[in-house]
Amino acid sequence: MNYPIKKVVILGKSSAGLLSAVTLKHFFPQLQILLLYSHKYAPIGVGESTTAWFPQFLHEYLNISHQEFYQAIWPVWKLGIKFEWGVPEISHFNYTFDQPFRYDSQDLSKTPGFYCMYDMQQASRYSILMDKLHAPLLDNGQGNIKILTDGFGYHIDIDKLINYLSQKAISMGVQIQQMEVLDAELDQVGNIKLLHCEQDVKVAANLFIDCSGFKSQLLNGVCQTKFIPYNHRLFCDSAIVGSCQRQTNPIHPFTTATTMKSGWRWRIDLKDKISFGYVYSSSFCSQDTAIQEYLQLTPNTTDNLRKISFKSGRYQKFWVNNVIAIGNASGFVEPLESTGQHMILETLWRVVLALQDSELSPSGKLIDATNDYIGDLWDEICDFLTLHFKFNRQLNTPFWQHCHNETDLGNLQNLVDLYQDSGVCRAISHLIPKSSIFEIDGYLTLLCGQKLPVKSLQPLLENNKLEWMNYRQSIQKSVLTSLNPHQAFQILEKFWSSIP
Ligand SMILES: Cc1cc2nc3c(=O)[nH]c(=O)nc-3n(C[C@H](O)[C@H](O)[C@H](O)COP(=O)(O)OP(=O)(O)OC[C@H]3O[C@@H](n4cnc5c(N)ncnc54)[C@H](O)[C@@H]3O)c2cc1C
Repeated sequence: MNYPIKKVVILGKSSAGLLSAVTLKHFFPQLQILLLYSHKYAPIGVGESTTAWFPQFLHEYLNISHQEFYQAIWPVWKLGIKFEWGVPEISHFNYTFDQPFRYDSQDLSKTPGFYCMYDMQQASRYSILMDKLHAPLLDNGQGNIKILTDGFGYHIDIDKLINYLSQKAISMGVQIQQMEVLDAELDQVGNIKLLHCEQDVKVAANLFIDCSGFKSQLLNGVCQTKFIPYNHRLFCDSAIVGSCQRQTNPIHPFTTATTMKSGWRWRIDLKDKISFGYVYSSSFCSQDTAIQEYLQLTPNTTDNLRKISFKSGRYQKFWVNNVIAIGNASGFVEPLESTGQHMILETLWRVVLALQDSELSPSGKLIDATNDYIGDLWDEICDFLTLHFKFNRQLNTPFWQHCHNETDLGNLQNLVDLYQDSGVCRAISHLIPKSSIFEIDGYLTLLCGQKLPVKSLQPLLENNKLEWMNYRQSIQKSVLTSLNPHQAFQILEKFWSSIP
């Protein structure tokens, strides 16, 4: 590779390509960046639900103002995921982003995790807001609005995101060109020298970012990097996707994951529409059956139904010589925890750090270390998802029986054994990866929410019951003046339109 890097070519104009362009230009304004895309290959059009890292990255790392972003996209606040999941006796549990297991309170004689083993309903502010269908905004009277900053994700309209990021990239000096890439030419050591494009155009650069989606045109097609499949541990491989226009119904400020016969269904509320997707295993369900099951629950989504096939897994390396793959071109794990956009930004951030530390001249060892870090994150997501599939008892269909019997917990077996032996205990945190995406709250939510049996669990004492009730009542009081998303949008619109 010719160092220092001066010219970057990005292949793909969807969320991965555009976020790469905006991020690299933000941190390295001196780079010349050309982004190529082809109308022949439409963006995949999913990826609407994010983790809390997405808003944080946009607003704090890229300095994109809330006003600019909201006025372009009007994202819906995502407080967490409502799982219609776990034991059949309980309709749902909430996986919230406000770290409920770390709440500190004088009112409790034990940590919140202890009580959550018995009853996790409404265990945090976000959980209460989710059940109320309210946004993380409080109206403190006299025009005084408080935004809860416990960390929330977004639901975003992907078309609007792509339009917004395209404009943003152009305004920052990124050149965007419609041009199909056909092939690439390598030098003796395996670096890409030139991209061969339609009409015999050849494009040179020091660094090539492959954001071509599942095709992985450069990382897989040209560099022939090894793919590590997760399909022996995660069995879904298809999705039926559709949406309907919002009528007058309330906006849900969370993603819902509902157990289905051969997988699960998402509901993602955007400001003007609601998107639904049935993620299923084609080994247990035909496409026609999946569509039927999907339409029984969502009859209004008939016009725009489509099927997406996917492979859960990751490439052994996302960065090979002068090729970096971001987004679906580098890996994909089925979307139950909405980790696609998260991994785009995690990967980009690690690339930014490596380029900063090496003054745009990364060594082979630095690239290896960055590959290892990102590989571990993908593997953690896969492990974490196995917890969801192994222990969901809502339905007893052939698919779910297969999940119970065949899901390999991998690195999480020890953690599950410890929980089933001793319940919520501090030693669990020793068994969670150091750079965990989900952290202790994610793991405990899944263990307590799905009500995994705990050997040592005794009936809850009366005084503990009372403490837990009082504690939750005090949290409820703290969000009494919350607003629903419609009200919150109106207030923000009015506020921003009053600023000259
Ligand atoms: C069923 C499903 C649900 C998902 N849900 C979520 C979710 O809720 N949250 C989340 O964070 N993630 C989700 N994801 C992941 C999501 O798809 C990605 O986060 C995101 O869309 C990234 O897409 P991409 O940019 O990698 O690729 P794509 O959207 O596929 O874009 C590829 C780009 O490459 C261009 N291209 C390809 N080949 C060429 C060529 N030869 N020449 C020129 N241009 C080319 C195309 O024109 C296009 O612009 C989901 C994925 C699936 C499959």
